[in-house]
Amino acid sequence: MPNIVIVGGGFAALQTIKMVRKLDQDIAITMITADTGVEYSKPNLSHAFSQEQTPETLAIHSAKQLAEQYNVVIKTKALVSEIDTKQQCVHVDGQIIHYSKLVLATGATPFIPPAKGLKRSATITLNSLEEFEKHKVQVDDAQRVTVIGGGLIGVELAFDLQTAGKDVTIIEPASYLLNSLVPPFVSLELERELKKVGVTVETDSAVCRATYLTDDVRLQTTASRLIRTDVVIAAAGLRPNTQLATQAGIDVNKGIVVDETMRTSAENVYAIGDCAEIEGRVMAYLQPAILSANVLAKQISIDKDKLMAGEGKFSLPHIITKVKTPSYPIQLAGRDIQTAQSWETRFDPKGIIAKGFNEDDQLVGFIVTGEHTKAAFPLLKELQASSPA
Ligand SMILES: Cc1cc2nc3c(=O)[nH]c(=O)nc-3n(C[C@H](O)[C@H](O)[C@H](O)COP(=O)(O)OP(=O)(O)OC[C@H]3O[C@@H](n4cnc5c(N)ncnc54)[C@H](O)[C@@H]3O)c2cc1C
Repeated sequence: MPNIVIVGGGFAALQTIKMVRKLDQDIAITMITADTGVEYSKPNLSHAFSQEQTPETLAIHSAKQLAEQYNVVIKTKALVSEIDTKQQCVHVDGQIIHYSKLVLATGATPFIPPAKGLKRSATITLNSLEEFEKHKVQVDDAQRVTVIGGGLIGVELAFDLQTAGKDVTIIEPASYLLNSLVPPFVSLELERELKKVGVTVETDSAVCRATYLTDDVRLQTTASRLIRTDVVIAAAGLRPNTQLATQAGIDVNKGIVVDETMRTSAENVYAIGDCAEIEGRVMAYLQPAILSANVLAKQISIDKDKLMAGEGKFSLPHIITKVKTPSYPIQLAGRDIQTAQSWETRFDPKGIIAKGFNEDDQLVGFIVTGEHTKAAFPLLKELQASSPA
């Protein structure tokens, strides 16, 4: 009997289940997850401290509710340790479960940059509801917080924690915050805003040594500063969880390599979400996971010969990325925004409108900040017209 097995219980896994159920009410689905299987919105972790959220208020549905609602078998606190692609089965806590289609939705693990003396076990990461639950009291009790990493998540967490009344320092090795997303003229405005609310921003700097004392942690930085802090949070990027795939001989590059139908190099094995690499990119955002789940559901629950031409193939439109820093919001879009050769920018007291162009003067992306974020949708339409997916 056909049985879809999904490894993982995060957004990508649940989105896959929801999409499959739209197409097929009956096909057997088993979801195996190492965590509690609680549905929650991970982006809400970015403002959980200032809004005094708890694991209970963040939870949307329990695993039991999901199992009933979607007619799925859900195994929680169950770690898949091995995939056998020849026998088409997975090993989980001494049990073997066979699949006709296997979906890897194993997410990613936060990277903790190495530094002399820095204890991984004492460094907080906030990439799941469980991590939030585990560290909430410690962060609530802390006054001084150091965030390692000035990318999207680091900036959002720093803003949130400062709003929650803490003294926050961000340490970023690059010269600018959000350096992989926006050009320096936007970063500098954001940095100014963060400083205005009280965040200490240290760019061109990294932690090189950590010393743990009874009443604080001392961080020595490469910029020769000594930071005294109560807690250290790492927001320095994610590494896709590819170990299961590697062990099974499935192609892995930065993530588990999939084609435009979400198929891996192994027959009947698919990957989705933060663990997957599509068109050479790992896209650790919700929108690509929604689009991928749409494609994947068709692939695994509709007969191939019933698919229309082009249906069931992934193509990434321009999507808007939002930086959730409430007093200085930023929105940007453009698949190829990093290739912008020139910028047409307008700075005014309301914020920035910046349009990026390639060498052929074609619009390839835009960034809007502050009150100008209202202009994001009209600009998205302009971008879609100029450079369609
Ligand atoms: C603070 C924060 C804010 C964010 N804000 C935004 C935002 O505003 N917009 C946006 O688009 N994106 C945002 N993101 C990113 C987005 O939330 C993620 O891309 C998305 O949630 C990833 O979902 P996933 O299912 O791929 O991975 P995960 O949620 O990491 O789920 C992975 C699952 O796999 C399970 N698992 C792993 N290995 C095994 C195994 N061997 N056996 C069994 N189970 C296993 C885990 O237990 C987990 O259930 C944010 C992320 C963070 C951390």
